[in-house]
Amino acid sequence: MARKKHDDADAGGARGGEPDAGGREVVPAEREGERAWQAALRPKTFADYIGQKDLIDNLRISVRAARENGWALDHFLFAGPPGLGKTTLAHVIANELGVNLVVSSGPAIDHKGMLAGLLTQLGERDALFIDEIHRLSPIVEENLYPAMEDFRFDLFIGDGPHAKAMAIQLPRFTLLGATTRMGLLSAPLLDRFGFHWQLRYYDLPDMTAIVQRSARLIGVGIDAAGATEIARRSRSTPRIANRLLRRVRDFATVEGNGTIDARVASGALDRLAVDHAGLDTLDRGYLTVVCERFDGGPVGVEAIAASLSEERGTLEEVVEPFLLQIGFIARTPRGRVATASAYAHLGLTAPAKAPSGGGPQGRLF
Ligand code: ADP
Repeated sequence: MARKKHDDADAGGARGGEPDAGGREVVPAEREGERAWQAALRPKTFADYIGQKDLIDNLRISVRAARENGWALDHFLFAGPPGLGKTTLAHVIANELGVNLVVSSGPAIDHKGMLAGLLTQLGERDALFIDEIHRLSPIVEENLYPAMEDFRFDLFIGDGPHAKAMAIQLPRFTLLGATTRMGLLSAPLLDRFGFHWQLRYYDLPDMTAIVQRSARLIGVGIDAAGATEIARRSRSTPRIANRLLRRVRDFATVEGNGTIDARVASGALDRLAVDHAGLDTLDRGYLTVVCERFDGGPVGVEAIAASLSEERGTLEEVVEPFLLQIGFIARTPRGRVATASAYAHLGLTAPAKAPSGGGPQGRLF
């Protein structure tokens, strides 16, 4: 299965699609369906948001201080692989602050006028969420700086020597940024956030709680072992858990009695080619290429992408972070290397040079 970097309907995808004239995004109908499904399961309050406890504890305090004192919340940046809950957090924060949230993304804001259009929609203390903020163009980014710092937007009327500068005063607002690639953010942009946080992959108890919560919301019966089985195979990522739950629910309804237990979940996930570590065909293809074609590495990501006919960005943003997290690959200055755990997972004998990797389930499970 090809997994696209910016594809909500797919395993690890972020939001995506082409921008329309209003700076929003146009997505095909089936992706829109998947997006609506995921959005319906989105927690709305801090109490609903499972896991990421340190972050939530910090946010609760900042949000409470802002609400009680009538302040605008500081600008916050959330980083982490797709599907971990960055967009959800933006919605939760706006909801807890009792303010409006305007939503857009880096690639959708493709000129300065579009940024002006978004900023001028904001009321006092409202929040603007920019997903994939590392993909803003340099011009748009530069125009964001005075907005973030001084709540000011500089407009130029006319062209050339007769152009006149005009500053628009904006309400005090909060910028909530999300990125899958913290390393691609420019230092001046990063500096203007009051706070940034790397979201972590979820551990098994939190993932199980997310599956149980989603099952309750969609009204499907699931026992503890069934929820654990889906959680274990969801790459520690809530969006994937929701997507797999939906598929397993279909199997349970058509081929079982409508309730999900471990046997139903495991049978359905085997048929969906999601293995016991949560890896799908693209993950396994990646590991197979590194182990077999490149003799375990070190190998550059470009060469792996070419062998798989995949985009390099998809491998870097979606595939590799989880394989690194569970210790199946390691990064070295000369490229990626497969660990002994990766060889064991594929049922292959590891060469003596392969690093150990720390066990098939890494630190998470
Ligand atoms: P991101 O913006 O990081 O790509 P999202 O916020 O869109 O991820 O999360 C994807 C889906 O996963 C959400 O629609 C929501 O249903 C679910 N989700 C994310 N984080 C949590 C969480 N902490 N608790 C419960 N469900 C979550």
